[in-house]
Amino acid sequence: MAKIPAYAAAEAKAPLAPYTVERREPGEHDVLIDILFCGVCHSDIHQARDEWGNSIFPMVPGHEIIGRVSRVGAHVTKFKPGDMAGVGCMVDSCRDCDPCRRDLEQFCYKGAAFTYNGTEMDRETPTFGGYSTQVVVDEAFTLKVPEGLDPAGAAPLLCAGITTYSPLRQWNCKPGDKVGVVGLGGLGHMAVKLAASMGAEVTMLSTSPSKEEDARRLGAHDFALTTDEASLEKLADRFDLIIDSVSAPHDYNTYLAMLRVGGVMVLLGVPPEAIPVQAFSLIGGNRRLAGSLIGGIKETQEMLDYCAAHNIVSDVEVIPIQTVNEAYERVLKSDVRYRFVIDIASLKK
Ligand SMILES: [Zn+2]
Ligand SMILES: [Zn+2]
Repeated sequence: MAKIPAYAAAEAKAPLAPYTVERREPGEHDVLIDILFCGVCHSDIHQARDEWGNSIFPMVPGHEIIGRVSRVGAHVTKFKPGDMAGVGCMVDSCRDCDPCRRDLEQFCYKGAAFTYNGTEMDRETPTFGGYSTQVVVDEAFTLKVPEGLDPAGAAPLLCAGITTYSPLRQWNCKPGDKVGVVGLGGLGHMAVKLAASMGAEVTMLSTSPSKEEDARRLGAHDFALTTDEASLEKLADRFDLIIDSVSAPHDYNTYLAMLRVGGVMVLLGVPPEAIPVQAFSLIGGNRRLAGSLIGGIKETQEMLDYCAAHNIVSDVEVIPIQTVNEAYERVLKSDVRYRFVIDIASLKK
């Protein structure tokens, strides 16, 4: 066991503060990673504040981890010291159930080992995330990060990137498709970049006129203000695919009406209350309402390789870890374009 510096929430009401965490000695299949950057995901805030009611304290958040491999176990084949590596939302799963065998480890029937606020598969050892200087992960759950990717900008790919890449692939986004993206935040900005890179004609659907310039810079071809009835009506029957990244309450039926016949709307955000869907919103036009949760390890690797080939990273604001509590407040106000990334070097000072 090695004791290393980290930042943790001691309890739901507590701000994050310096903490010491223990990491296991790397086993035969493990990779020891010196963390360089860790993204700040909105779900870090929900969990650090116990807003989902499942929090384990003390909690070291962080599941958008990029670093360099410093040591590998005897049987590790994918990595050697010095390699760039990434860790996303999961660090292990049972590897044997139906979803695991289908490369959908995030839905492991035994419950995947999530990177923090969870346990290893022994169901005893707590997991601690990337707001720390090092992490030890089985190579099977460690991603290879192509050297061409800017490491700070690449960190959010491990959650925001795969969360938006996976539904675009699941629903076969292709050149010429008309894709609507609802909400321009951490997820939405990646959805715009990725869909545009796949050749889709992207429309940003936002409540905020101030987002138009950014949406176009990120690759959107069109912008519609969702507070304006007239502009929404013009979008009827338009989209092959809508990626809905919004967690605030909003009416799904309004957006379902924008799908062309057979179109699909995919939910990524989690509004606090259930939202009623009219049956006819789906029946009329064979429309589909779907959901998507991150992506499996294989698809996450595919996404990283795709982003390297297409020169895509997240737009980030790099911060020292000492300002993470202020960063949380700014995320809640949507005052970030579009992801905070912690420079872990600040933790060693
Ligand atoms: Zn996340
Ligand atoms: Zn499983």
